[in-house]
Amino acid sequence: MYINENFLKLPGSYLFAEISKRESAYRQAHPDKKVISLGIGDVTRPLAPAVTEAMHRAIEEMASEATMRGYAPYAGYDFLIDAIVKNDFLAHDIQFSANEIFVSDGSKSDTGNIGDMLSESNRIAVTDPVYPVYVDTNAMSGRAGNYDNEAALWNKIVYLPATSENGFVPDLPSKAVDVVYLCYPNNPTGTTLTKEQLKVWVDYALKNKVLIMFDAAYEAFITEENVPHSIYEIEGAKKLSIEFRSFSKTAGFTGVRCGYTVIPNELEGFDKIGNNHSLNKLWYRRQSTKFNGTAYIVQRGAEAVFSTEGKKQIKETITYYLENAQIIKNSLEATGMQVYGGVNAPYIWAKTPAGLSSWEFFDKLLNEAQVVATPGAGFGKSGEGYIRFTAFGKRTDTLEAVERIKRLKL
Ligand code: PLP
Repeated sequence: MYINENFLKLPGSYLFAEISKRESAYRQAHPDKKVISLGIGDVTRPLAPAVTEAMHRAIEEMASEATMRGYAPYAGYDFLIDAIVKNDFLAHDIQFSANEIFVSDGSKSDTGNIGDMLSESNRIAVTDPVYPVYVDTNAMSGRAGNYDNEAALWNKIVYLPATSENGFVPDLPSKAVDVVYLCYPNNPTGTTLTKEQLKVWVDYALKNKVLIMFDAAYEAFITEENVPHSIYEIEGAKKLSIEFRSFSKTAGFTGVRCGYTVIPNELEGFDKIGNNHSLNKLWYRRQSTKFNGTAYIVQRGAEAVFSTEGKKQIKETITYYLENAQIIKNSLEATGMQVYGGVNAPYIWAKTPAGLSSWEFFDKLLNEAQVVATPGAGFGKSGEGYIRFTAFGKRTDTLEAVERIKRLKL
């Protein structure tokens, strides 16, 4: 048996594994200290009552012979797809047919698996810093080439830096690429693109036949006008982009697992001799082969996110997290740090003080303030010199963490 040797090229441990290793070591050495984590982007608020009530009802249905359900449809139940089409798209004047929505167990799987449809020869571009899943899954499929440990770069990936120098608006690739991953509101920087800025990407992609993978996992956190909720708000985007959505951060589904992917019927890819093929059809083929549907109970819970009560309850939770973001942002600014994001996203991206590297500042925060954040360098080379705080913590923890940081000598 021979293994896929691309796995051997993957550097070190996954970012969050390294963070939790350092955190555990600190906790073990200092059992008396209370460590507060503003690191991993997991939620802390409970599910909305509208969601749990819907899931309870679904469990009752599953308990009766007359109403129990077996395998769910590969691409999701109509009741959820209809709610998605109506609330997430029609409400923004975007039309989709039910067959263009693929319900799944979350966006990590979808953004990771989507590469199954892509030839190994595609040239991939990512913004830098970046959600590591896009890069690592392309590396597993051989599209990233080889990893240069010293440079912290894959030789076949085209990196598009997004730093304070360019206002976190990456330049268009200077080399020819086939696929670009964009994530807005952005993880990890918490920044966004305006409609005009996103239009530049759509126009570029249309002109150059580039596929845009648009990850909108944090769409629910958008507060400002003129920030697109979906790439399909931009004319022409249906021809060239796939959009990923998740209930994880929108509705606290990280432990429930539900998301969806939009693949418009008009989106096409090409074979070697230049014939067009529907990506929607390929994805249906892929999902029906490798995926057996999202649990009925979970889909009923997701449907309830769009009910009147559900919407109200979810908005309260989002507001709670955005208030945390404001608290973190204001407090870090008060220490003199340069701070970005946190307005349309649950992430605050800060420049590390006194020229410390990302991991040096991570260790300082852990050792001197017992606060865990995420080193920017873990998201890519251009993340070096930054650190990410999440607004998903409990309010009391968030307040305590920022008080401790304010007391630090920076
Ligand atoms: N995309 C981005 C940018 C994320 O930050 C995350 C979660 O952290 C995901 C996707 C994955 O979400 P899910 O929980 O739906 O798998």
